[in-house]
Amino acid sequence: MAITNNRLSKDQYEQNFSDIHPPFETHNAALVEANRCLFCYDAPCTKSCPTGINVPKFIKQITTDNIKGSAHTIFVSNIMGAGCSKVCPVEKLCEGACVYNLMEEEAIPIAKLQRYSTEKAMQNNWQLFQRKPSTGKKVAIVGAGPAGLSCAHVLSREGIDVTIYEKESKGGGLMTYGIAAYKVTPQFCEDEVNYITSIGGIEIKYNQELGKNLPAGRQGISLTDLQKNYDAVYLGIGVGVARQLDIPGEELEGVVDAISFIYDLRAKGYPVVPVGDKVAVIGMGMTAIDAATQAKRLGAKEVTLVYRRTEKEKPCTQVELDIAKLDGCEIIWLAAPKEVRGDNGKVSQLICSIMKLGEPDASGRRSPVDTGETFSLDVDMVIKAAGQVPFEELVNSSQIKNSKGKIVIDNNCATNIKGVFAGGDAVNGGKEVVDAVQAGKDGAKAIMEYLNPQTLPK
Ligand SMILES: Cc1cc2nc3c(=O)[nH]c(=O)nc-3n(C[C@H](O)[C@H](O)[C@H](O)COP(=O)(O)OP(=O)(O)OC[C@H]3O[C@@H](n4cnc5c(N)ncnc54)[C@H](O)[C@@H]3O)c2cc1C
Ligand code: SF4
Repeated sequence: MAITNNRLSKDQYEQNFSDIHPPFETHNAALVEANRCLFCYDAPCTKSCPTGINVPKFIKQITTDNIKGSAHTIFVSNIMGAGCSKVCPVEKLCEGACVYNLMEEEAIPIAKLQRYSTEKAMQNNWQLFQRKPSTGKKVAIVGAGPAGLSCAHVLSREGIDVTIYEKESKGGGLMTYGIAAYKVTPQFCEDEVNYITSIGGIEIKYNQELGKNLPAGRQGISLTDLQKNYDAVYLGIGVGVARQLDIPGEELEGVVDAISFIYDLRAKGYPVVPVGDKVAVIGMGMTAIDAATQAKRLGAKEVTLVYRRTEKEKPCTQVELDIAKLDGCEIIWLAAPKEVRGDNGKVSQLICSIMKLGEPDASGRRSPVDTGETFSLDVDMVIKAAGQVPFEELVNSSQIKNSKGKIVIDNNCATNIKGVFAGGDAVNGGKEVVDAVQAGKDGAKAIMEYLNPQTLPK
């Protein structure tokens, strides 16, 4: 069988893409876990959260039935605390740092407790922040992803009017268009954007793109216009397009990039995007794992992840790798794609070089070296997940200082252009949602300092 979108019934699709981390079913179940917390002094869980959520405080508030207070404690540090409770790789952040790990006991399920409070706040539309009177200042933000939204919320709280220009027709950035469908649903992402903007003072203008030569239907905006019409500009445009493999056969039908594959799946829903019978996924990062598991859940019979290094160097977490394994994905370590072969223009084989680890360099890191031997995989689909390339052309055309497309900022989140700030994936090259949220907060603080030091929050 070749690539098709007819592998699943709607029921099967819904089952395969249901919530991977279900919430607490009862208040008591949440209380039992919250009461296990030791409310540590100088809590390591808080220290390991990039947004610095006061974890023991919000858990304590759950134990005293102060759910509103608990949600406020979370949102004051991370306005996307609800989304982060579903998508954060907590095993390497708060839960990984929980002291219970040292006692070889189950860590406190911090994410699940965070979800408990924040979902209640969203469901009940609790307005936990009040906007200060207008300062008369206006800021333009480009990109309605986690960095842009978080920056907008802080600015709006301080009485600054924000307009977000977003090239897509929905907000949330990769949260809406990139993250696996079994972690967050499109409805949740929309609700979260609405909840964040419900504070007021934030307008999102959709289908508006910063840049030139736009296709029909998209409205272009220029940095010069934004500088003219606003007191400051924040760029939260994320990382750009998928990296090419630069190997023969990459143009064959059936070779797709992971971001487009997941984007289609997220944007179109059921009936789903086409998937092959035998799929190879190149890469071992979070995107590769998400693409592989979703291909399997869409009904692919065989999914093989191909990675050029060993398990020790994998960029994904062990928990993510385990999800892929549990879903039945195969893994081939020390293999690099060399060529894609096809029949009648369609993918039929992936040829891989067998790699070995070379001598350690000065930092002790051992890079993979081609052994000269190859093997082939019979496949009808190849998904490329070898990283993303920043929007080099866009930032160059705007005269913004950058390093291979990654926007360069100083310690105050400022670019080389006066009044233009930036943060999130566009600057760091691609991290997690929680890092982008913190970058948005830092950007907002820097913008307020730039506009008027007196407006700084205490
Ligand atoms: C496949 C995939 C899976 C991931 N899974 C996870 C996960 O499970 N957990 C996790 O924490 N992180 C995950 N991440 C990373 C996470 O999604 C990002 O780190 C985070 O979304 C970055 O936020 P951002 O606001 O900087 O950028 P983005 O989320 O990329 O948002 C940028 C926004 O800017 C808009 N934009 C871009 N260019 C323009 C322009 N020229 N004009 C106007 N608007 C523009 C975009 O449309 C987008 O809405 C994943 C990433 C990918 C690619
Ligand atoms: S480290 Fe664990 S036990 Fe200590 S405060 Fe954080 S969640 Fe509670």
